[in-house]
Amino acid sequence: MTVSAAALQAFRAALGPQGVSDDPDVLAPLLTDWRGVMTGRTPLLLRPSCTAEVAALVQIARAHHVPLVPQGGNTGLVQGGTPAEDGSEVLVSLQRMARIRALDADGFSMTAEAGVVLADVQTAAVAAGRMFPLSLGSEGSARIGGLVATNAGGVHVLRHGTMRALVLGLEAVLPDGQIFNDLAPLRKDNSGYDLKQLLIGSEGTLGIITAATLKLVPAPRARAVAWIGLESPANALRLLAHVRAASADQVSSFELMPRVGLDLVLQHIPGSRDPLPTPHPWAVLLETTCEQDVLTDALSHPSVADAVIAASQTQADALWRLRETLPEAERIDGRAAKHDIALPVGAVPAFLDAAAVAVEAILPGARVLAFGHLGDGNIHYNVRRPAAMGPARFVEHIPSLSAQVHDVVTRFGGSISAEHGIGRLKRAELARLADPAKLSAMRAIKAALDPLGLFNPGRIL
Ligand SMILES: Cc1cc2nc3c(=O)[nH]c(=O)nc-3n(C[C@H](O)[C@H](O)[C@H](O)COP(=O)(O)OP(=O)(O)OC[C@H]3O[C@@H](n4cnc5c(N)ncnc54)[C@H](O)[C@@H]3O)c2cc1C
Repeated sequence: MTVSAAALQAFRAALGPQGVSDDPDVLAPLLTDWRGVMTGRTPLLLRPSCTAEVAALVQIARAHHVPLVPQGGNTGLVQGGTPAEDGSEVLVSLQRMARIRALDADGFSMTAEAGVVLADVQTAAVAAGRMFPLSLGSEGSARIGGLVATNAGGVHVLRHGTMRALVLGLEAVLPDGQIFNDLAPLRKDNSGYDLKQLLIGSEGTLGIITAATLKLVPAPRARAVAWIGLESPANALRLLAHVRAASADQVSSFELMPRVGLDLVLQHIPGSRDPLPTPHPWAVLLETTCEQDVLTDALSHPSVADAVIAASQTQADALWRLRETLPEAERIDGRAAKHDIALPVGAVPAFLDAAAVAVEAILPGARVLAFGHLGDGNIHYNVRRPAAMGPARFVEHIPSLSAQVHDVVTRFGGSISAEHGIGRLKRAELARLADPAKLSAMRAIKAALDPLGLFNPGRIL
């Protein structure tokens, strides 16, 4: 289906020359997804500058039956924010809506428009003596609307939760063109269904988010970062339980990395070095907001094979770099079948054993790289090709391999998407594996709120 000339003319008239573009140079970076797997087309880019303009463009889309794809920083990893290949969808970039509308340091809240970059929110919070605790590898590009729409997580979820726990209020334009205004920074609100929470994580399928009121926390008074060598993920979990108790639950990050992951970083990332003198099968990067002596005591636990505590900010940054550059090192090493999965925290070690057996059975010699936010039960379970297999043949195996991994995840009571969402990439797997009652309720909600099916069609459902 093509978008009619009348619809395009109406969009141009409503948004003015600043608010639209069909310049190929402007469009190019917005049409290919972050991983470079798909490139879409759009007849016109819409760039509204305020909520009223978003509402106006939604009314035009309704009148002309035009599907809309909202986009923030285009860092999403499930192909949800790039338009379809056939040019039938109009891309709506929220990047011009980049104002911080209010910051209340005493009330620990900030209202930011959808196009504000996460790093700018963090900086504004620090300038006010506060912290916005969402932190992730894409924070220099990802924007508030996208982060809310995907219920983003990151490295501080263990302590502060995902976006669901960090959004106090929301403003969005619904598919019927109404502006849902719920920006008040309420800590309690039991007045019926929570539409705000429904929109969080809806990936643009139920509303276009235009602003959010975010929860701030006090700036931490201390920070201690350690790199710990261990024998096994089971030992890592024992340590996590111990440090949480010993520090009065001040663990903000607990990141697991296997030796094979550290080796990839040492091989591909210039300037990186092993923080410990001898190799260990597993490592944990631990960050707490307790004083260093509390951490030193906690690390005398028998599950620790060896450990080093950063003595300076520079050393702490160097330890974090080992974790943060792992995806880049992996990318340099070649294509992998990637799975962003969540499990009950205590089930992670048994899952890793069972999944390794399943992967070996379906693709002998395949190399597993499982790492991530162990404290949240969120593992990035990536599988690289067997050494003897060419990349093209490996790509053919990815769908059956992923189905196998997802089956094991489901058997252990886990989720096939911990933090990246469903988008288009995991839609078929969600339909295959989700609880039928949940799926039919989701379809009913989508049909009720977006009966014309114009908001990010084909994503999630
Ligand atoms: C290097 C790297 C590291 C990452 N690390 C993490 C991580 O640790 N944790 C994590 O959770 N994610 C991570 N991600 C994924 C990604 O950054 C997040 O999903 C982020 O929330 C996407 O924000 P964005 O502004 O780029 O959204 P986009 O990519 O532009 O959009 C993502 C989805 O949200 C929808 N959307 C965008 N804006 C709006 C809006 N205003 N209203 C309604 N729908 C909208 C889009 O249609 C799309 O479906 C990482 C990505 C990269 C590239």
